[in-house]
Amino acid sequence: MDTPGRRFGRAVVIGGSMAGLLSARVLSDHFEQVILLERDPRPDGPQPRKGVPQGPHLHVLLDTGRRLLDGFFPGLFQHLQEQGAELIDSSGELAWHHFDVWKARYTGGIPLLLCTRTFLEWHVLRRVVALPNVELREGCSAERLLTDSARQRITGVQLKGPAGEAPLQADLVVDASGRGSRAPQWLEALGYGRPEEEQVGVDLAYTSRLYEPPASFQGEWKALMQYPSPPSTWRSGFISSVEGGRWLVTLNGYFGDHAPTEPEGFLEFARSLPRPDLHAYLRDAKPLGPISTHKVKDTRWRHYEHMARFPEGLVILGDAVCAFNPIFGQGMSVAGLGAELLHECLREQTRRSPGRLEGLAWRFRKRLPGVIRQPWLMSTSLDLQYPQATGRRRSGLGLVHWYIRRMLERTSRDAAVHHQFNRVLHLQSGLGAILQPSVALSVLAHGAQALFVPLRERANTDTLPPPPEARRS
Ligand SMILES: Cc1cc2nc3c(=O)[nH]c(=O)nc-3n(C[C@H](O)[C@H](O)[C@H](O)COP(=O)(O)OP(=O)(O)OC[C@H]3O[C@@H](n4cnc5c(N)ncnc54)[C@H](O)[C@@H]3O)c2cc1C
Repeated sequence: MDTPGRRFGRAVVIGGSMAGLLSARVLSDHFEQVILLERDPRPDGPQPRKGVPQGPHLHVLLDTGRRLLDGFFPGLFQHLQEQGAELIDSSGELAWHHFDVWKARYTGGIPLLLCTRTFLEWHVLRRVVALPNVELREGCSAERLLTDSARQRITGVQLKGPAGEAPLQADLVVDASGRGSRAPQWLEALGYGRPEEEQVGVDLAYTSRLYEPPASFQGEWKALMQYPSPPSTWRSGFISSVEGGRWLVTLNGYFGDHAPTEPEGFLEFARSLPRPDLHAYLRDAKPLGPISTHKVKDTRWRHYEHMARFPEGLVILGDAVCAFNPIFGQGMSVAGLGAELLHECLREQTRRSPGRLEGLAWRFRKRLPGVIRQPWLMSTSLDLQYPQATGRRRSGLGLVHWYIRRMLERTSRDAAVHHQFNRVLHLQSGLGAILQPSVALSVLAHGAQALFVPLRERANTDTLPPPPEARRS
């Protein structure tokens, strides 16, 4: 990442989780001073904290997120790997059952980072607070926005911290306070109204526990994922290798069908998954800690870009704008794309009107949907296959569902289709990759076969595929 020189005064970031940390990193290139406000006390190490209740649950970092973080913090990934994180081949080292079929495993796939969320965030935090012009104020909460007398420009935040309340002036305020962001209320109180919200109701829960792998485990995979087959099944299970030679096991279910938090119920839920594999591995693994759970009622996109009026000096990103269904692993990567966009907008700002921030808030909020739209469409299209999911169904969705199902079935036998799907999933390429002629022809031929040939004969529905190396030998 290039450093154009710091041309602006002070930026304040609300929220010290992934979106806030990545924003602070970017802002440190452009502002003399960056103050990062975090309500929680600073953790002593990679530990769960109150403000990030999703911390104990499975988080994978897609390749786009990895690429961005690598640019923001050179050398970070090598350090993470030295500390126990694994960068795996997402097609060779991942065993993935989805839409009733095992995906083909091949070498040379897209890298996927496996480690706990708390570990990743902790290492990113250490890098950010080491930046000379970034100051973390822990235990400090932004209570509301401050404005100029005409209420046209945000001039800072009202801060509540250990020493009480005080105003904190800023040239730019970035709200990265997550799903619970109070920006809609704050803007309404200032006379701007609230953004319209798009929601898809999923009533999902993540339930997770750390394990020591059983001695009998031969390392057949680094991660095992058993996704459901909408609309008939909605339970999933994941085992991911994480630092410390442990397994992080996450079970989830949609529509209130949540995995229990007591040990027998947790195992029983694993046993009830449509495939027996995950339970078979888990049965002999040794639990290492408590079971935690976290509910996600809905996925939600706040359309700030549609608001007719919006103040200068305010940028909102990360989950505060769009909180995805976590099972597609998109949130941290999209937070990174938001930070990258902020960097681009600030560079452009410097070219257009050096030293001035007028127009930045407008340009950023208008361009942010460009990074959100594709992952949003992908995850909501899959969720809306369930009749129980609430949300707006666009016309033509039935055709989209037909194509998705046939394409995902095809990933079982056609590694090229699997690879193009992975490129879209990892946000490396647009939806065009799964619609290009070579993929479409394979999918359509498979769809035609589906009229006469049962799925079991068209795809690998049952046998966990061996790693690609084992197949060759
Ligand atoms: C169960 C689950 C699993 C997930 N799995 C994945 C995954 O596999 N891959 C992936 O990429 N993403 C995943 N995500 C999404 C990911 O966690 C988020 O997208 C990511 O953390 C970015 O969120 P954020 O920084 O915008 O907000 P958050 O992570 O919610 O953080 C908000 C921060 O703001 C602080 N805060 C809030 N209000 C204030 C205030 N007024 N003043 C000061 N501080 C404040 C909070 O304490 C917190 O630290 C998952 C999410 C969930 C719920």
